[in-house]
Amino acid sequence: MEMNLYINGKSTRTNQVFDVINPYSKEIIDTVPDAGEEEAELAVEAASDAFRDWKTTTAYERAGFLWRWHELINHHKQELAELMTKEQGKPLKEALGEIEYANSFIAWYAEEGKRVYGETIPASKPDKRILVQKQPIGVMAAITPWNFPAAMITRKVGPALAAGCTVLIKPAEQTPLTAIRLVELAHEAGAPNGIINIVTGDAATISNVWLSDSRVRKLSFTGSTEVGKHLMKKSADTMKRISLELGGQAPFIVLEDADLDKAVKGAIASKFRNAGQTCICSNRFYVHESILDSFTEKLKDTVAQLKVGDGLDSETDIGPLIDKDGFEKVQKHIQDAINNGAELVTGGTGSSENGYFIDPTVLVNTNEGMLCMQEETFGPVLPVSSFTDEKEAIKRANDSSFGLAGYLYTENISKALRLAEELEYGIVGLNDGAPSTAQAPFGGFKESGLGREGGHFGIEEYLETKYISIGL
Ligand code: ADP
Repeated sequence: MEMNLYINGKSTRTNQVFDVINPYSKEIIDTVPDAGEEEAELAVEAASDAFRDWKTTTAYERAGFLWRWHELINHHKQELAELMTKEQGKPLKEALGEIEYANSFIAWYAEEGKRVYGETIPASKPDKRILVQKQPIGVMAAITPWNFPAAMITRKVGPALAAGCTVLIKPAEQTPLTAIRLVELAHEAGAPNGIINIVTGDAATISNVWLSDSRVRKLSFTGSTEVGKHLMKKSADTMKRISLELGGQAPFIVLEDADLDKAVKGAIASKFRNAGQTCICSNRFYVHESILDSFTEKLKDTVAQLKVGDGLDSETDIGPLIDKDGFEKVQKHIQDAINNGAELVTGGTGSSENGYFIDPTVLVNTNEGMLCMQEETFGPVLPVSSFTDEKEAIKRANDSSFGLAGYLYTENISKALRLAEELEYGIVGLNDGAPSTAQAPFGGFKESGLGREGGHFGIEEYLETKYISIGL
């Protein structure tokens, strides 16, 4: 299959291409165009022209297209999931789950586009009327990461298209194949030319063209805090609206009265999904001292059963890490913790012959002086620290420049709500290790980003508010 750029409804190839590597076998799966300024500019031209018509379509017409796209994605979900596992490494069952999750944003926004309500406001003068309308912002540029090759795209493109915006996509260089296939399916579903364009190639070159062009009115980025800050600065010159989903460093607190089975299940779900490579993965665990041993024991038994291997093997729970850099960072975090007095409960080893693998690892006796308690590990490492007083646990949990997700386990409802409100995190999983869903607002406090994706909040990011003052 030839994987191409999509600009103005046409599939195009460049002379230069780059390789997409399978992180399990380290073999080349395919090549994709290495596009530059010219293609990036053509895409803006196409999206800008297409916006003139797309914004005048009804929400019902846009929903019609989104539902057709949804149906095709559903029809091709096995193929899409296999492609994703090959380029990203996650187990096939997780890849299938991601395609369904990604598609749920298209379905949700197909309908939510019909509920973009305005307002009329009582005026203070008898001969005045105040009308407020919501209008699409214009061309949106989506720059997305490799850890969720499908969902990070539909979470942006679904609401943008539903709102009447047109889109430019620059997928991560590690995982462009799933993204291109999704856009091909959008084309097959009858996307009008230019409403959805995808350009693969050097990130800085493409984003420079898009961010310096005043016709691009919106940037939606998911990735590292460092790159997010850089893109925010670049967006300032043309005053683009921005949504940023950046890094996390999620705390996971288990109180004395927690249901330990639930807590262990939640810990596994939030820690080892995608081999620990999600921005809401729990990163550091605070467990009440009275249950430390029983929690660790249960955790050890469950973690020991997780199977590491080729994502295409149906038995696999944990696939390879995305690349050598990721692998070395995780190894460094484990080593640093052990050197500083942490005790290894299970795992701790890695291999890089067939993919970059780290065995699921549990450490106890960890503290804030260790890298794994300070930085986002992005790997299957679960560091446990104990606490005596819940105030101390909340303080330690909040002591971070990040504020994306936090988890809290307790069976005491009033304590649960009170402490959830104290956590300085945009998402709190209360006895829940898997909070992401299309209907709810996903996003962070502090340096974890700006804006929200999902729910009715998510479409607001693509809408301008217009006030029409009427004199009678
Ligand atoms: P990660 O650490 O998850 O790879 P990055 O922030 O490096 O996160 O990447 C997320 C997205 O940002 C990818 O699509 C990547 O190509 C893009 N990106 C990386 N560096 C830049 C840059 N300097 N300008 C624009 N986009 C970038």
